Amino acid sequence: MDTRSTCPYCGVGCGVVIESDGARITGVRGDPEHPANFGRLCSKGATLHLTAAPEITRQARLLQPMQRLQRDADPVPLAWDGALNLAADRIAGVVQAHGADAVGVYVSGQLLTEDYFVFNKLVRGLLGSNQIDSNSRLCMSSAVAGYKATLGADAPPACYDDLAHANTVFIAGSNTAWAHPIMMRRLEDAKRANPAQKWIVADPRRTETAAVADLHLPLLPGTDVALFHGLLHLLLWEGLTDAAFIAAHTTGFDALRDRVREFTPKHVAALCGLPEADVVQAARWFGANTPTLSLYCQGLNQSSHGTDKNAALINLHLATGQIGKPGAAPFSLTGQPNAMGGREVGAMANLLPGHRSLASDADRAELAALWGVPPVPAAPGRTAVEMFEAAADGAVKLLWIACTNPAQSLPDQAMVRRALARAEFVIVQEAFADTATARRADLLLPAATWGEKEGTVTNSERRISRVRAAVPPAGEARPDWQIARDVGRRLEARLDPRRADGASLFAFESAEQVWHEHRATTVGRDLDIGGLNWAMLDAAPRQWPLPAGAADGLARLYGDGRFPTPDGRARFAAPAWQDVAQPRDARFPVALTTGRLRDQWHGMSRTGLLGRLNDHAPAPALAMHPQELDRRGWRAGDLVRVRSRHGEAVLPVQPSATVRPAQASVPMHWGEEFVGGQTADGRPLTGVNALASPARCPQSKQPELKHVAVRVEPAKLP
Ligand code: SF4
Repeated sequence: MDTRSTCPYCGVGCGVVIESDGARITGVRGDPEHPANFGRLCSKGATLHLTAAPEITRQARLLQPMQRLQRDADPVPLAWDGALNLAADRIAGVVQAHGADAVGVYVSGQLLTEDYFVFNKLVRGLLGSNQIDSNSRLCMSSAVAGYKATLGADAPPACYDDLAHANTVFIAGSNTAWAHPIMMRRLEDAKRANPAQKWIVADPRRTETAAVADLHLPLLPGTDVALFHGLLHLLLWEGLTDAAFIAAHTTGFDALRDRVREFTPKHVAALCGLPEADVVQAARWFGANTPTLSLYCQGLNQSSHGTDKNAALINLHLATGQIGKPGAAPFSLTGQPNAMGGREVGAMANLLPGHRSLASDADRAELAALWGVPPVPAAPGRTAVEMFEAAADGAVKLLWIACTNPAQSLPDQAMVRRALARAEFVIVQEAFADTATARRADLLLPAATWGEKEGTVTNSERRISRVRAAVPPAGEARPDWQIARDVGRRLEARLDPRRADGASLFAFESAEQVWHEHRATTVGRDLDIGGLNWAMLDAAPRQWPLPAGAADGLARLYGDGRFPTPDGRARFAAPAWQDVAQPRDARFPVALTTGRLRDQWHGMSRTGLLGRLNDHAPAPALAMHPQELDRRGWRAGDLVRVRSRHGEAVLPVQPSATVRPAQASVPMHWGEEFVGGQTADGRPLTGVNALASPARCPQSKQPELKHVAVRVEPAKLP
């Protein structure tokens, strides 16, 4: 039996066909009709069925609700009704004793739009707080803030077809070849068809993407804004800006022109550590070998100045008029499969459903009217790191964590450990039983996962695809939206009994019903899908916006030169260049960055289960330049201790010319199970992110996971 669905890994959002006998998933293949991948799958997508094998399910899945009666004790099973009542009792108790702001709900870009929607309605509609955030905070929040600051809305303007139309592809802070493999295949197709297409890659590391580029700009970590300002300086100098577009469709260019005046090629080459001629070449291709498409991802986003980096790159497109045309746009690549859906439903501390603004009284009132609830407060809730810091400080008493593993993925893991220990009650809603976070939960709620649940996701090009169940959920697992709904109904009985008597906020019986309510929140907004219905989605994936009366979604945005700002003009930003939050110094002289491996996904709770994927890189290693190893007398495989101001890790070192001297890189995937060492205050090491800095972008609050200053010493193991 074939069931069409969507890959649950990255934001490319490839269509898959799940093969099953109705009870067991037996195979997977690419969906030849899905417009993201046209039948192709990467190594992760092509092995999805193996992660659903019965032996893997028995070994790795959380199959029934469990309660830990004491911290550090083994959890014991309990029935669903008891588990849901316990969750509702504890949440209601905290709300009544400490207020709704003492409950922190931390969700995930792995969730489906419908899951996200119900969680958000529970927090905002029922609890009346904004204390919900998503692990998308670690992934895309700088892109969101960058789009809103410049173009006026969180809407990627491009589509995948633009890869084939571009003559220059500027890839900044993205190892597309490994992080978004099917996009890379499409890029390779485009280059084969158009050998004149130029690829420029700006990345401190010589990644697999940089290695095949026409021009690699190995800029020093954190110098992206300086590079982008330098490119604009050159575009102005060489007459490659579009004065008519700037005059007709933008504001703020004079301040930006003043800002970039000092960013001469010589100055930029020195700041960024690049050959001057390469900066000049990049500017000429960007401005003259048009149309130009920029692809960018975590290298810009995971930064203490992530919003500035996004805005400075978008500036280049606005200054050259390279937007709204085939092959011309700034195009953020979404990390997770449904980070976009989470943004659409506004399930982040500073967002509201339907791209509404928390700062707008009218928007808050409109949402309140749609749901029949009081407006939420205007002040944003706590963002991801802030939520856990507040738990560590005792202000957040209860954490409800769904489909994510903050005890591995957040920076400053010593703080995260304190948060999970100090919170009075920790609920973890998960498909997989043995994550670092699940090990610290008081209550474990088993969630259905890929192949077992219904709903929708939105990929990087704003395309909404159906996710379908091919088999029933494993064990007693339930879809995330159902779990949130059932806790919500019980909370209504405890906190707002009038609702429980027939006017429940959670009167959903299917994912489709949830999606209809989501759709209603988009009408009249920039992401309007009022013209889309479930049957259309069932027939084929669709891009937003697709308002009532439209025959199809819009492939690319802003073709008419109008932007969703009050005056209809895009806004140039003029950020100052600022260094990383923790520059290298005498005590911590090495710049450490992190990245993805080709065959792993996030914390490996799914991909790490397969030997076939683990074979690509069975263990983490610290990559350092061969000169660094020679200078210190180290050999490949020697164990080294990597120390930052936040923690330490013991890793084998490997020589690699992909980084410069005084730089190092390590894959991001490994947690406490795999890496020895301890945190700065003497606790057991909690994975690669024990080293990471909690410094974050002031606008987006996205942490600087791409850079931390470290020192590397020989490891003296006991
Ligand atoms: Fe899945 Fe991304 Fe690979 Fe496509 S490119 S198959 S969405 S992991």
